[in-house]
Amino acid sequence: QRLVSNGADDLERAAEAALRPRTLTEFVGQPIVREQLKLVLDAAKGRGASPDHVLLSGPPGLGKTTLAMIIAAELGVSLRVTSGPAIQHAGDLAAVLSSLDEGEVLFIDEIHRLARPAEELLYVAMEDFRVDVVVGKGAGASAIPLSLPRFTAVGATTRAGLLPAPLRDRFGFTGHLDFYDATDLERVVHRSAHLLGVELSPQAAQEIATRSRGTPRIANRLLRRVRDWAQVKGTGVLDLSAAQAALTVYEVDALGLDRLDRAVLTALCTRFGGGPVGLSTLAVTVGEEPETVETVAEPFLVREGLMGRTPRGRIATPATWQHLGLTPPQDNTT
Ligand code: ATP
Repeated sequence: QRLVSNGADDLERAAEAALRPRTLTEFVGQPIVREQLKLVLDAAKGRGASPDHVLLSGPPGLGKTTLAMIIAAELGVSLRVTSGPAIQHAGDLAAVLSSLDEGEVLFIDEIHRLARPAEELLYVAMEDFRVDVVVGKGAGASAIPLSLPRFTAVGATTRAGLLPAPLRDRFGFTGHLDFYDATDLERVVHRSAHLLGVELSPQAAQEIATRSRGTPRIANRLLRRVRDWAQVKGTGVLDLSAAQAALTVYEVDALGLDRLDRAVLTALCTRFGGGPVGLSTLAVTVGEEPETVETVAEPFLVREGLMGRTPRGRIATPATWQHLGLTPPQDNTT
């Protein structure tokens, strides 16, 4: 697992659990989504009813699972968790739905990966609080309607656009999570340091925040690595020199690029004169699969303007040369 990856494995999720905000007030940043969601929840609580179904979209690590937990906590109900890939058959989803208690929140992570039959069953359940259980086979098969308790579905997806319209339309509210700015990430790491019981200087918080790719999950992970360094090699205090030294050890540079990102950019500039160069050629040069370069390194590099994608291949930008401390070749055509 890369230190700057925005995904998390099970082990890391356990470490994250302790740092999760439990209420909307504790949830840092995302003021628009927070305000919208607060209205939805307050209104539902006022009416004593379940709120509309909620769809949360945005890249991994920005707080979708955290918000789902907060929604259940604010409503004072329990949260049931499943995910698109975990549901193989429509029957699996029918079983989950029929075991819900009145008012519960059902969180469906990666909802865009639900199989089509499960998706169809879900939107009937969301709209009519009913599932049709099919009994028998072939011509003699019949559907027995089974009514469900009222529940609130919270779907999470990395891209709302991937959801088929009929499913998307069943959500009364869609919240889009955006990358966090450095100031909000500083607040995230200060809050986490407090929970971990470590002393973090403002300069160190700033340093961690600017290297965290706009993602609280990465900020918390870097914070834990800086804590390790401070404990083993430093004084235990997480100050600027501890942050810089730790992040040098882990090869996370000033913009949050790691070894793979820099290898890709360096190859692009030094081997291919800044491109354009095809993805597979670039990947072979850095000893990686094209898919890894495309999904793991590129999105952040393109978002930061450190790499351009053109129909003829990948290209360096002025910022690429500048970040690597290299001089771009003179353009003879001008
Ligand atoms: P994935 O799609 O990979 O599950 P996610 O968007 O659901 O990611 P979370 O699991 O909710 O992300 O958040 C990852 C970590 O970041 C959690 O440990 C959480 O504590 C922290 N975090 C996320 N958002 C915030 C926030 N707004 N304030 C403080 N901490 C946050």
